Amino acid sequence: MNLSRFPRRRYTQYATPIEKLERLSTILGGPNIYMKRDDLLGLAGGGNKTRKLEFLMADALSKGADTVITCGAVQSNHCRLTLAAAVKEGLRCRLVLEQRVPGSYDRFAGGNNFLFHLLGVEAVHVVEGDSDMMAEMQKVADALKAEGRKPYIIPGGGSNEIGALGYVACAQEMLQQLFEMDLDIDHIIVTSGSAGTHAGVLTGITGQNAPIPVTGIGINRKKGPQTEAVYDLCCKLSAKLGLKNAPAKEDIVVFDDYIGEGYSRPTKEMIEAVKLVARTEAILLDPVYTGKAMAGMMDLIRKGYFDGTRNILFLHTGGSPALYVYTKEFFAD
Ligand SMILES: *Cc1c(COP(=O)(O)O)cnc(C)c1O
Repeated sequence: MNLSRFPRRRYTQYATPIEKLERLSTILGGPNIYMKRDDLLGLAGGGNKTRKLEFLMADALSKGADTVITCGAVQSNHCRLTLAAAVKEGLRCRLVLEQRVPGSYDRFAGGNNFLFHLLGVEAVHVVEGDSDMMAEMQKVADALKAEGRKPYIIPGGGSNEIGALGYVACAQEMLQQLFEMDLDIDHIIVTSGSAGTHAGVLTGITGQNAPIPVTGIGINRKKGPQTEAVYDLCCKLSAKLGLKNAPAKEDIVVFDDYIGEGYSRPTKEMIEAVKLVARTEAILLDPVYTGKAMAGMMDLIRKGYFDGTRNILFLHTGGSPALYVYTKEFFAD
């Protein structure tokens, strides 16, 4: 795959490490667990959106944008990192925040919300849950255009075929690293949200004829619609890349058993998983995405899902700033 033909900015100067989690692997008694540390990517606080933004911001700049607009939940990591990338590029940034949990927006909340303020967001537009986010962002864009400005809209999670190229690039990076480490990974586990990460990794692995199974742990949508979303993006990405070997629908594996009461709502298992990884490996997961994905992986290990495999790799997609708005839930336990 030739990714060099797509314009790209660089926000991380190195390949993120792949670490063996010795103590966690021993405690869980299953396969050896490795972790790809994408929580250590560049921009303020790191996390998976940094990779997507390398391609999205390059596209925005090539179109002469002076402002980026994106959207997310009230504690969105994607919004924090889009704003950070805009700061780096000298662009302005506006955020449209969706109150997926009614009344959840608090102008003075900590975590990512505090960072929106610290990084100097131009404006925050708050809308109710289930709003048409594309239409809401378009409204903001139209108002800016009327003032003679040049807005560029980045979809939620940065998950279109441009942003997802970041995870095709990550798949390439991982395969090269694993080769250098002389490490044969049997299974990859990812968090499956707006689908760019899952689709990008799967398309990248398949496109390089390295058919390592990828399991996605859902944190929002049910299995059916999540599988559709991942598949749709895999098809668009494969077309953009001109791939002969695109992922098939059967390659998309999604579990929706670890969502609990809904997006961003804490589960007991998430709290256990975040604590266990903190206390065995000193690695911070997050309450909305990787904590639930880790809870899923731990449950699947216990149920024997990975039996017969030696080495599995968990992709740590970041998100720790959100921990600081869930302190009550953690102290309560
Ligand atoms: C956005 C996000 C995800 C989900 O990635 P998608 O590409 O949206 O599926 C996982 N973890 C963290 C920390 C995130 O911010």
